[in-house]
Amino acid sequence: MSSLALFDPEIFDLINKEHKRQVEGLELIASENVVAREVLEAMGTILTNKYAEGYPGKRYYGGCEFHDKIENLARDRLCALFGAEHANVQPHSGSQANEAVYLSFLKPGDKIMSQSLNNGGHLSHGDPANISGKYYDVSFYGVDFDSEVLDYGAIEEQARKYKPDLIVCGASAYPREIDFKAFAEIAEDVGARSMADIAHISGLCCTGLHNSPVGVTTYTTSTTHKTLRGPRGGVIMCNKEYAGAIDRAVFPGMQGGPLMHVIAAKAVCFREAGTEEYKTYAKQVVKNCKALAQGLEDNNFRLVSGGTDNHLCLVDLESYHISGQEAEVILGKAGITVNKNTIPRQSLSPFETSGIRVGTPTITSRGMKEEECRQIADWIAEAIQKRESDSALAEIKKEVSTLCLKYPLYPEIRTL
Ligand SMILES: *Cc1c(COP(=O)(O)O)cnc(C)c1O
Repeated sequence: MSSLALFDPEIFDLINKEHKRQVEGLELIASENVVAREVLEAMGTILTNKYAEGYPGKRYYGGCEFHDKIENLARDRLCALFGAEHANVQPHSGSQANEAVYLSFLKPGDKIMSQSLNNGGHLSHGDPANISGKYYDVSFYGVDFDSEVLDYGAIEEQARKYKPDLIVCGASAYPREIDFKAFAEIAEDVGARSMADIAHISGLCCTGLHNSPVGVTTYTTSTTHKTLRGPRGGVIMCNKEYAGAIDRAVFPGMQGGPLMHVIAAKAVCFREAGTEEYKTYAKQVVKNCKALAQGLEDNNFRLVSGGTDNHLCLVDLESYHISGQEAEVILGKAGITVNKNTIPRQSLSPFETSGIRVGTPTITSRGMKEEECRQIADWIAEAIQKRESDSALAEIKKEVSTLCLKYPLYPEIRTL
């Protein structure tokens, strides 16, 4: 970093401030994580200097011999990790992976069925504000009003009526296990293809903590930076018969040159995700989330669907008479980062929201266990109860940073 510090002190200083924020605060945003040093190392390399449009062995630029080897390692490792026949590791993001699947076989105006944004789905699943909602005709399914879980009978009925070309499953804010086989069967029954977007839970799927859709649904997409704990990016997996169409949709369909420094870091991430240590990590993510959930319930918060099977909880704030928007700000003052989130039985507007989403991937990467999770639940309740008192919030923030300093992001970098 020393040459950056000399050449561009403004950016250097802001990176250091952000590092300090990450070290001292409790990150409960369910879609974030802390990558391994080795992942950071691969990303910050000269690989960024190279154009490698195309695929290994079929590039549009010379000098790609090492890039071919890197991309093949990434693809092979991803296929081995999930038992996939084919993998494309080039999508720049999870959203672009999804758009590439649509582009690979749908025409504008074709029909998609997917989980609605306010019931936990993702923008790139056909939200009107997203390109997917503008190009395709979309019918949304949600969760059952009483149980707040997916009702496969109702989804099947909707699919029979709507006759979609593609059924999308997978979510950004759904605390329960998703039955990918049920989705694949519904799709097959109505003559549709199916896509599972495991952006959030891919780290649980590859370790057997959640059922895996790979080889079950027609396509599987994921980000690499959430539970999987790699660099920011996307991937697509499918059977061989769809490989050519998927590869053409990513390049030249959606993107130009791949980010080869990120693909190298993805390869490092896939290697890490295949280790016993990572499996232990993923198990602890789920255990921690259950402890956090129990702690929140003990503090009189209602959890959407009554609990969690994965790395996140959706918290209904009704009993504390506070909106998600306010809670996000109050918790921020106490050093706890969360995001406001719509919940299925929402009384407030989608901007204010009636809930927050909390998750354990980041704190688990830092080494925190169940005991810390129960403490965090108590702090969340205390901060919200004492929200009128700036001094009480400052006091919690101090306790939070004392805990956090015991769990550095990178133990070998202790000073900032
Ligand atoms: C996060 C997420 C994405 C998008 O990821 P980006 O890399 O931010 O584009 C797609 N689908 C789901 C379900 C997600 O949670």
